[in-house]
Amino acid sequence: MTGSTPRLDPQRAERVLAHIDPDEVVAFLQALVRIPSVNPPGDVRAAIDHCRATLSAAGFGIEVVAAEEDKPNLLARLDAGAGPVLLWNAHVDVVPTGEESAWTYPPFGAEIHDGRIYGRGAGDDKASVTAQVMAALALARSGVPLRGTLIVNVVADEEVGGAKGAQLIANSDTVRPDFVIVGEQTRNRVCVGEKGAQGTRVTVYGRAAHGALPWEGANAIEGMARVIVALQEQLWPELARRTHPYFHPSSACISMIEGGVKTNVVPDRCTIHIDRRIVPGETPAGVVDEIRRVAEAAIAPLPGLRVEVEPAGWGGREAIVAPEDSPLVQAMLAANRHLGFDTTLTGFSMATDGRHFVARGYPTIIYGPGDPALAHKPDEWVGIDEVLDATRAYALAGLIILGAA
Ligand SMILES: [Zn+2]
Repeated sequence: MTGSTPRLDPQRAERVLAHIDPDEVVAFLQALVRIPSVNPPGDVRAAIDHCRATLSAAGFGIEVVAAEEDKPNLLARLDAGAGPVLLWNAHVDVVPTGEESAWTYPPFGAEIHDGRIYGRGAGDDKASVTAQVMAALALARSGVPLRGTLIVNVVADEEVGGAKGAQLIANSDTVRPDFVIVGEQTRNRVCVGEKGAQGTRVTVYGRAAHGALPWEGANAIEGMARVIVALQEQLWPELARRTHPYFHPSSACISMIEGGVKTNVVPDRCTIHIDRRIVPGETPAGVVDEIRRVAEAAIAPLPGLRVEVEPAGWGGREAIVAPEDSPLVQAMLAANRHLGFDTTLTGFSMATDGRHFVARGYPTIIYGPGDPALAHKPDEWVGIDEVLDATRAYALAGLIILGAA
């Protein structure tokens, strides 16, 4: 296939779309949401079984890869001989429900209200799993001539980093996709990449003393207050100006603070954690350095205090962006165009399993139903229309990439 002008035969497209059964899509997603595959502990056996049974019945070749017994990953293959290998990835583990009293509808009820399916994981990420599985069924059932291989890869472990899920699959030598589409909530827009991240720890060190004699000590918490204000006044506005056409601006969140040992002791240490999300052009080392410069300047005039700034926790990677003219981006765009959907390219603010495939050099984009702002919250929901639309778009992108002449 050529990069700039993907071909989509309208008759074949209609044939594939005619094999999507909306009732089947809804029933599949409801059944999947009713399986509480909460991570931690991340036992996804029943959820993977649900996908395996459906794809196996449709003639897909089944392989299950597991680093741990309760964390299986599914590779369901539709093999059409020589040609490109297209892999669709999405995860079935879900985050905990939180306080169940905060939910209007039961988190594992998959109840339908006003055209929405409610439940933990309805959007993140079982709607994407459903769209991929159902699109794969439509391609297989339609009988349109295909070449190459479609792999439906449903994984565990995404919500805790993916080492036993997508990373395991991406690192496997038996899976060598030419194209990867990761299903996450992009509201069915073509998402060409994701932000980078760099966790950063800032620690102010002072000197302990009796709380009644504060002049004998150096107060690390009060020093940290100066650091925080300096970051807010000097650095955060600058980050808001670092914009990019596909992404929200560069961002920082002071996500944790710790300091002090007792009510009557001058604290000798205070630590904050900063969750920095970075746009193309920024580097993990660079963003730690600029926090350090601001923090050191804020602390310098204060006697008895010093500050240390270091990378910590999660992150250490640059933003990822797929080239706009890549065959994968163009195929997904052509599917959206054919269906009359939004063709504005976008980027993902959160991390996705896509980074594991990108790390191995596989061309990767993100596409799926649902709104990321609803994820990980009470009353998570996904619109049934969105799930059906995503199923159609996946099926057509598959047809464009795998359709035989
Ligand atoms: Zn997700």
